Amino acid sequence: MSSLSGKAQTVLGLVEPSQLGRTLTHEHLTMTFDCAYYPPPTCHEATSKEPIMMKNLFWIQKNPYSHKENLQLKEETAAVREELLHFKAQGGGAVVENTTCGIGRDVRTLQQLAAETGVHIIAGAGFYIDATHSPETRAMSVEQLTDVLINEILHGADGTDIKCGVIGEIGCSWPLTESEKKVLQATAHAQSQLGCPVIIHPGRNPRAPFQIIRVLQEAGADISKSVMSHLDRTILDKKELLEFAQLGCYLEYDLFGTALLNYQFNPDIDMPDDNKRIRRVRLLVEEGYEDRILVAHDIHTKHRLMKYGGHGYSHILTNIVPKMLLRGITENALHKILIENPKRWLTFK
Ligand SMILES: [Zn+2]
Repeated sequence: MSSLSGKAQTVLGLVEPSQLGRTLTHEHLTMTFDCAYYPPPTCHEATSKEPIMMKNLFWIQKNPYSHKENLQLKEETAAVREELLHFKAQGGGAVVENTTCGIGRDVRTLQQLAAETGVHIIAGAGFYIDATHSPETRAMSVEQLTDVLINEILHGADGTDIKCGVIGEIGCSWPLTESEKKVLQATAHAQSQLGCPVIIHPGRNPRAPFQIIRVLQEAGADISKSVMSHLDRTILDKKELLEFAQLGCYLEYDLFGTALLNYQFNPDIDMPDDNKRIRRVRLLVEEGYEDRILVAHDIHTKHRLMKYGGHGYSHILTNIVPKMLLRGITENALHKILIENPKRWLTFK
């Protein structure tokens, strides 16, 4: 048991978990995604360099990672502030901002946004995928990595006294790399000591989430306090999903609002749309997993902000919740998905 026991930790300090309210469990408010830049087809090179305009917005929506400016969410703090106020006005309470080292975590900006908007913001400790690990990170032992994670939660991140309240999103590739495996083991060790929530970004292969849970388990993690993100794009087969659900982690559908013809990171995957996501959530509820489901948008590029004609951080509350009700997901299940499950996950043991 740690001194944080029974509380949730936001960038403004400890709070009673009951104060969080409706919580988006996987978002980014400021980040840079240069590591994900995907060169455009040669005939589209000019478009990829234009500023964002109405006439190229559809192209950017379909090729979001081929437009360099689109990857700089960190330039949009004013728009994000406005959107957080909108989220609050729509009944939102909290956001887990799980930007980790490698994609431009900026806890100072998060603290400022929380203070200015009254939305609870929980920051993420740890490291994104191997491609962003520094040589120093790669050279660290599991023990040293564990110390880094514990320090970001107990003392502060990025050289500040602003503390993280979850570990993750911890980035994993497919296949999992040695450096990523060490970070997962360190995550498990830090979690055993702190009783903290953990959130994982799996590689783009249906076997990746299974392998990650095994690595975490073998290193002593508490799977019941861990979230597997991005299931929308990772486990598309129903049977495989239900097999995975049995492992006992939180099951996150966090790409609400995303509609892609081609998924640039893995052309083999047909990215589901929101209606399909809703059907998957309903399936999990019907199968008895309503205490395990979490939802979010994982906004990480400019074009998904309302400023650029995107769905913004309020899409789930404004549009998805009514559609879920229409499709037979009950008020009671929604209360769990939006409030009770995040609260239980975010409370330190
Ligand atoms: Zn993310």
